[in-house]
Amino acid sequence: MATTARPATLGEWRRNVGSGAPVLRSVKDEMRANLLCKLETGAPLFDGVHGYEETVLPQVVNAILARHNFILLGLRGQAKSRILRGLVEFLDLEMPYIAGCEIHDHPLSPICRACRELVAEQGDQTPLAWLPRDERYVEKLATPDVTIADIIGDVDPIKAARGGRNLSDELTIHYGLLPRANRGIFAINELPDLAGKIQVGLFNIMQEGDVQIKGYPIRLPLDVLLVFTANPEDYTARGKIVTPLKDRIGSEIRTHYPATVEEGMAITAQEAWTQRESSRQLVVPDYLREVVEQVAFLAREDKRVDRRSGVSQRLPIACVEAVVSSAEQRAARNREGRTAARIADVYAAAPAITGKLELEYEGELKGADAIARELIRSAVGRVFSRHLGQASLQPVIQWFEMGGELKLPEGATAAEELSALRRIQGLLEHVEALGASDHDAPLAAAAGEFILEGLWAQKRISRSEERGYFAERPKPPEPREPTGRPPRRPYN
Ligand SMILES: [Zn+2]
Repeated sequence: MATTARPATLGEWRRNVGSGAPVLRSVKDEMRANLLCKLETGAPLFDGVHGYEETVLPQVVNAILARHNFILLGLRGQAKSRILRGLVEFLDLEMPYIAGCEIHDHPLSPICRACRELVAEQGDQTPLAWLPRDERYVEKLATPDVTIADIIGDVDPIKAARGGRNLSDELTIHYGLLPRANRGIFAINELPDLAGKIQVGLFNIMQEGDVQIKGYPIRLPLDVLLVFTANPEDYTARGKIVTPLKDRIGSEIRTHYPATVEEGMAITAQEAWTQRESSRQLVVPDYLREVVEQVAFLAREDKRVDRRSGVSQRLPIACVEAVVSSAEQRAARNREGRTAARIADVYAAAPAITGKLELEYEGELKGADAIARELIRSAVGRVFSRHLGQASLQPVIQWFEMGGELKLPEGATAAEELSALRRIQGLLEHVEALGASDHDAPLAAAAGEFILEGLWAQKRISRSEERGYFAERPKPPEPREPTGRPPRRPYN
């Protein structure tokens, strides 16, 4: 679109016979038309949203085609906000409005008094301005302290008195976020946290185009697509959403976590900051990315983790970033030019995991750190089975059973680690199954360490807290009750 050719007045716009000639159409009609166009040409919809191609996105498309206000119901970290922000792609690149209008009035149908007076006075000379589509999206996180003034607006008695106007005159309104989203998209995140009074206000605007502010009726026939997000349990809980508002939300669309580890890995790879400007080359082997993703999958199934809040996709994203940092830190300390992340780096990334788990009581007792370590260990076990389930690792286990012990300190260089791993006969011949080669020290060392960790995860060898591996020993008998202790008092 040629930005220089934009009409600067209402008259110029009227005379423009091209595609940009004046039409009065609602934002929902505009989005519908642009979406249909994209569907016909096969243009990509919702760039960067993965795993929803056959579930969520077709439902969002239907909602837009139906001109529905809609809500995305899902747990945290399910790309709800990303989808809503992606809706601007269905708006025109630029939209004309009456210059200076805070609520971006349509030149052919202004709703605020100032604009109506301006058009009546200046006619074709009324100046226009053009709004880029990014500025037509307004977003608000609902919290219990959000007020009518924040969302809809407030009346200013001083301004009213100065202008000699009646308080109910719209000229005295300080517009809130919703009127400022006029002719655009207004998104409210976590709708159930919005006070009932404001939900009623929203409903009135949607239904009748008017609303009461401090008891004064205000007429505001806004043209807005309203979209919301909510946690499904909060949304369906009785009394959280006023019924008339719920009735006016045309579509309820459920989001979900990635269905497969591969899908999750693709999302994480897209979002995580791993390509860092650095003179060092940092490689994160795929099997480690798989472990990180598997941690999120296992956490989502774990009964010690609160399922109502879910486990965000931000967990594996932050975790991969922390894994890279841990490898980067070691490489810098060791002054290595090329390094590969190791399983020890995943444990070092635990702070990126613990804060993202809402624990149930049982989990709280155990502690987030312990849960994170258990999840990593289980994830390693799964990934190890997938890649090396068929490998014959008996010689490696035997090496430990013959009394071999091996310590792999976190800070060891790749060369140091690899020479330690070489002592175990038959170990390094398996690194190829993990995409590594004996000739590439950083990758081979990382893969060798992962195999030992996998054997430990499957309880075929043992490991100390200090990353020392040794043979699995028969468990000592359970310690008996200490004899000196007074007997427990019975309850009855
Ligand atoms: Zn106006």
